[in-house]
Amino acid sequence: MSTHMSSATAAPSSTENQQVHFRCFNGCEGEHSIYDVMYRCPTCDGLLEVHHPREPLQTKNAYQWKQLFDSRASTTAWPYGSGVWSMKEWVVPSLRNENVVSMCEGNTNLFWADRLGKQLGVPDLWIKLCGNSHTGSFKDLGMTVLVSVVKQMMADGSPVKAVACASTGDTSAALAAYAAYAGIPAVIFLPQGKVSTAQLIQPVANGAHVLALDTDFDGCMKIVQEVTADQSIYLANSMNSLRIEGQKTVGMEICRQFDWEVPDWIIIPVGNLGNISALHKGFKLMMDLGVVSKMPRLVAAQAETANPFYQSFKDQFKEKVSVKAQDTLANAIRIGDPVSYAKAVSAVKESGGLVEQASEQELAEAAAQADLTGMFTCPHTGVALAVLKKLVAQGQIKKSDRTVVVSTAHGLKFTDFKVGYHDSNLPGITSEMANPATNLPATAEAVKEEIKKRFGG
Ligand SMILES: *Cc1c(COP(=O)(O)O)cnc(C)c1O
Ligand SMILES: [Zn+2]
Repeated sequence: MSTHMSSATAAPSSTENQQVHFRCFNGCEGEHSIYDVMYRCPTCDGLLEVHHPREPLQTKNAYQWKQLFDSRASTTAWPYGSGVWSMKEWVVPSLRNENVVSMCEGNTNLFWADRLGKQLGVPDLWIKLCGNSHTGSFKDLGMTVLVSVVKQMMADGSPVKAVACASTGDTSAALAAYAAYAGIPAVIFLPQGKVSTAQLIQPVANGAHVLALDTDFDGCMKIVQEVTADQSIYLANSMNSLRIEGQKTVGMEICRQFDWEVPDWIIIPVGNLGNISALHKGFKLMMDLGVVSKMPRLVAAQAETANPFYQSFKDQFKEKVSVKAQDTLANAIRIGDPVSYAKAVSAVKESGGLVEQASEQELAEAAAQADLTGMFTCPHTGVALAVLKKLVAQGQIKKSDRTVVVSTAHGLKFTDFKVGYHDSNLPGITSEMANPATNLPATAEAVKEEIKKRFGG
């Protein structure tokens, strides 16, 4: 099926380029091809965004879009079965299907957290489990788009020969997997000793060039930007706005899963602020196309030890705050100088959203409590759940509100955190809900005794 509209038939009412293109987020003049190696505005050095001219998208009405996407999700019709590529026309319509690099990402479960919701006083609580994805985090949603565009660039003769990123662990796992799937070399910069064992071993197993640097994420980010300055190595961090295009589909997918209804709140743990910007961008597109009629209130959840966005929010976003990020169990959001700051400010302001923070104790407790209702929560999701508790206590989130918590990674990537919690040896944390295994002699007698102790008898 051809999704490409030529401008000859589109009869554009303006002189605007009808192709999806990069433009400056701050509004500088100029449109740039998404197949050019470009990460920042050449005029003001600000962030770029991928702009979707609305006219070609108005060839279908809201009902037709919903029908089309509903009919594709979870099918095997290449590449439309993927949660991201089921919405290809809204993501990168000009990508040739043979260049799509997809491992069927997205279509993650959105489930009703019945017991936890009741415990927290918000019975209409839902968890969007983005960690149930190919590499175990939502980063897959963005990486499928970025690596697909790179594949098309290379097919069309671009000088790009490899992809690279700095990472707090999950970005590199996603990049390494998608690059290996496409047969493109990947270079990974990790802060030494600051990612989990699973996060480190993923790019190693996928054959990436893994460079562990004696610095933190923000230090890795500076170096990767220098290394990728010469156009032959393509930068895959979320400063690259192509990733936002894939990640924005999570909001669309949540709506689709609610039969195209919009929840009242979406809470998301944030670090570099790409994901919350993506959610906002997705909802804006859906509003413009009449697919939804309101925007959910977007809540950014930060760890207290790496909270520049929270600090800036507290000061009415008067200026960008940068901090030296301190250690946190939520290592994927240990970021002191967030790249997508300007976009995230719009996301919070335009959605009537909020920023709240959680301490290490609060995130560990919230994760443990959720686990006791059947989840297996990563520490970042713990931050979001702790923030949810606070907003309910503050009366911001009301009992009747429908709230979605975005669970950003799979708990199995963070077994060190789980083991530490239940062994009661996480530094500075009191494990109120620890449930360690009990060692017993292998006799029925001993077991009966233990069961009696636990259940009475
Ligand atoms: C990357 C990541 C985040 C933060 O997303 P940003 O776009 O950097 O704000 C949160 N949780 C997990 C598990 C992540 O991997
Ligand atoms: Zn600019």
